[in-house]
Amino acid sequence: MEPLADSYGRRIKSMRISITDKCNFRCAYCMPAEGLPWLKKSEILSYEELEHIARVAVSIGIEQIRLTGGEPLVRRDVPEFVRQLRQIEGLRSLSLTTNGILLKQQAKVLAEAGLSRINVSLDSLVREKFAQLTRRDQLERVLEGLAELEKYPSIYPVKINAVAIRGYSEEDVLDFVRFARNKAYVMRWIEFMPLDADQIWCKEDILTGGEIKAIIETQYGPLVPITTGDPSETARRYTFSDGVGEVGFINPVSEPFCAHCDRIRLTADGQLRTCLFATEETDLRAVLRGGKSDEELAATIHQAVWHKELKHYIGDKRFRRANRSMSMIGG
Ligand code: SAM
Ligand code: SF4
Repeated sequence: MEPLADSYGRRIKSMRISITDKCNFRCAYCMPAEGLPWLKKSEILSYEELEHIARVAVSIGIEQIRLTGGEPLVRRDVPEFVRQLRQIEGLRSLSLTTNGILLKQQAKVLAEAGLSRINVSLDSLVREKFAQLTRRDQLERVLEGLAELEKYPSIYPVKINAVAIRGYSEEDVLDFVRFARNKAYVMRWIEFMPLDADQIWCKEDILTGGEIKAIIETQYGPLVPITTGDPSETARRYTFSDGVGEVGFINPVSEPFCAHCDRIRLTADGQLRTCLFATEETDLRAVLRGGKSDEELAATIHQAVWHKELKHYIGDKRFRRANRSMSMIGG
């Protein structure tokens, strides 16, 4: 079969798998305070079903898988699932995006299961601000989770992701830089996108990566670009003039990277999404539960990928909000 590619010639190599829509936080840029109507258990793919789709996807060209949610670690037996995925021949990288609150208990078992990389979302190092944005007063537990991770260097690198919001994030930038350089975390800022369930996003809230970079440079001087030659990399990466530490800016709004996007997403209820901002999905759960063969599943994935959206149109009058918010998609 042809390698997995879309009609614009983009090779698709990376898949985000959401393993649950539930979450123990209520970040204002993602979920409403009261939560969302959760999926029924019967709607959610079992680990066997997820592994089945992952195996077929890897056989046709997916090389990297990232587990996400909702909060992935609220689902039971994640390390066991990591172990299952690890056995898929051809899978080159297996990572996890988490809010970090359950890492203290789970870092060890995740490392033992073979998790190779991790992203921890953390928007402020100030307790009150953290509690205000996540609507949970749990900064201490996230920091304890990060401290626990230090014991398991096989999970590397540890990336800290902060959503950048104008009027909220600016004053934390230099604290984060100090924290990350001290601990050897890769610190990254992601521009706020219109994927929040409350639909409060407005373009005035966007704090661009360029603006954050300028704040850092007031203190540290010009940042030094890190170039890897991988065009599908989402972050603009930099180190400091003394060579210590790395920061990155994920700028989907101010500098869209759609032209080099190599990602697809599988939701917890088995819908394949070929863009974060997709308004249509492909029902892989129906294919799987309909007893179709692996060839038919592979052909369905190929077909969906072929029709991958050109770009997201944020800031353009053609922009349409996605048919799900971030926690239901799997960011
Ligand atoms: N619960 C986990 C976490 O927070 O890391 C995984 C799922 S969360 C949806 C994945 C990432 O999406 C997080 O880094 C979060 O900050 C980011 N995110 C959520 N809503 C966003 C939005 N409206 N704009 C930009 N990033 C967003
Ligand atoms: Fe939960 Fe992650 Fe959304 Fe925050 S960003 S509400 S932690 S899914």
